Amino acid sequence: MGPLQIKELLQKAPEGQAVTLKGWVRTKRESKNAIFIALNDGSTIHNIQAVAEPGQFAETIIQQVTTGACLRIEGSLVASLGAGQSVEVKITELEVYGTADPEKYPLQPKKHSLEFLREIAHLRPRTNTFGAVLRVRHALAFAVHQYFNDKGFFYLHTPIITASDAEGAGEMFQVTTLDLDKPPRDEQGAIDYKEDFFGREANLTVSGQLEGELGAMALSKIYTFGPTFRAENSNTTRHLAEFWMIEPEMAFFELKDNMDLAEDFVKTVIGYAMEHCKDDLAFLQKRLEEEEKSKPQKDRSLPLLEKLSFVVDNPFERLTYTEAIDILLNSKPHKEKKFQYPVGWGIDLSSEHERYLVEKHFKKPVILTNYPREIKSFYMKLDEDGKTVRAMDVLFPGIGEIIGGSQREENYDKLLERVKEIGIDPQNVWWYLETRQFGTAPHSGFGLGFERLVLFVTGMGNIRDVIPFPRFPKSAEF
Ligand code: ATP
Ligand code: MG
Ligand code: MG
Ligand code: MG
Repeated sequence: MGPLQIKELLQKAPEGQAVTLKGWVRTKRESKNAIFIALNDGSTIHNIQAVAEPGQFAETIIQQVTTGACLRIEGSLVASLGAGQSVEVKITELEVYGTADPEKYPLQPKKHSLEFLREIAHLRPRTNTFGAVLRVRHALAFAVHQYFNDKGFFYLHTPIITASDAEGAGEMFQVTTLDLDKPPRDEQGAIDYKEDFFGREANLTVSGQLEGELGAMALSKIYTFGPTFRAENSNTTRHLAEFWMIEPEMAFFELKDNMDLAEDFVKTVIGYAMEHCKDDLAFLQKRLEEEEKSKPQKDRSLPLLEKLSFVVDNPFERLTYTEAIDILLNSKPHKEKKFQYPVGWGIDLSSEHERYLVEKHFKKPVILTNYPREIKSFYMKLDEDGKTVRAMDVLFPGIGEIIGGSQREENYDKLLERVKEIGIDPQNVWWYLETRQFGTAPHSGFGLGFERLVLFVTGMGNIRDVIPFPRFPKSAEF
């Protein structure tokens, strides 16, 4: 089905065989004796070299073979004399499907900045860097499904349109069916957005968790893996307005089981990418090494693959929030007042604190547990002391929070109290509360921001560069 792809061709390398190749020109080089075309079809980081003789094709055709043009090449596979490649294609037929005017095509062979490429998200998958990132992203997504399937989880599709704000952070995009030319007005004359989905409130989901819990209370182990939306006007390198979240939810799992699962899960999917994306990761590692060259030796980080192996092969550090605060209070940056946000019990850790713990103190991934109830969501199970909840955050080097999870409150009265305490109308979550009245069960789960995982595995520095079409307040393409 379909033409042979370059990846398959390089694996099989059936020398002497007639082949048809279709792909995009990366470079063309003309010498006295030959014309060399480097072709890439996105199936692999590697190009294949195709060779024609001068005069073999009309000059008008050869002129159309420029960087970015799309070609069909027929030829035979021969052993290559060039360094670094085993085979090349001796061209017998050449067809130009689509030209790319060299005056206008932006991806001429030179190094482009990631900022520039972000402005042309529709073309950047054709670069080596984005090709590699997108293939690694695919492998990770595949590994996620495989992992949960192997472990007896069911893939549950939770809704995108919902009225509930699971995180209570008020960062929701509203969905509206209102005629904004003639909007309904409240008594003060302001547009009444409150009941805007055929008479009721509707938003884009910030998390599939609440619905995921309902699934776990029936199927025992489920996971969601879908887009989530946060209307945060955040211009960090770790936040997007639209990102993909993986949310397993398990009945009969306590916090410890939840931590064990989270750790095993991330290690397994990273291991999968290391095994199945060797060439892409080697390319990304080399790319990083180029960047690191400009830094003094002591500030250079480990090569990408060593960093990944380290995470896969070593146990994560586990400690409570309270212990973490003690460490931070005794740290140099705290004593020298170098943290931007002051440390004290009760604060919501910011990424500088998280990264201090991971990168400076423990030098490995960290799982923090038992956070103060005030800074965590209403659905988390209260600890016996009533001050902390059974929350866990997994913190990664270079990133900070990658996973947020908890054991959920299964007691109806306690949950209702928390719902009221934070100002949610119990009527709005009656369906959620009801699960605690009919066969309630201890259960736990977590949410992993998929792009933060891809960010870590690819070693990229900005979350906007690990999703094909980033959505953030100032995206160039929308
Ligand atoms: P942060 O503290 O980084 O803002 P959060 O605590 O608000 O994250 P949660 O509500 O716990 O995030 O969501 C679970 C996971 O989803 C996070 O651990 C993170 O990996 C990811 N995540 C959250 N917000 C975003 C975002 N805006 N863009 C990309 N990933 C996100
Ligand atoms: Mg947030
Ligand atoms: Mg957080
Ligand atoms: Mg969180």
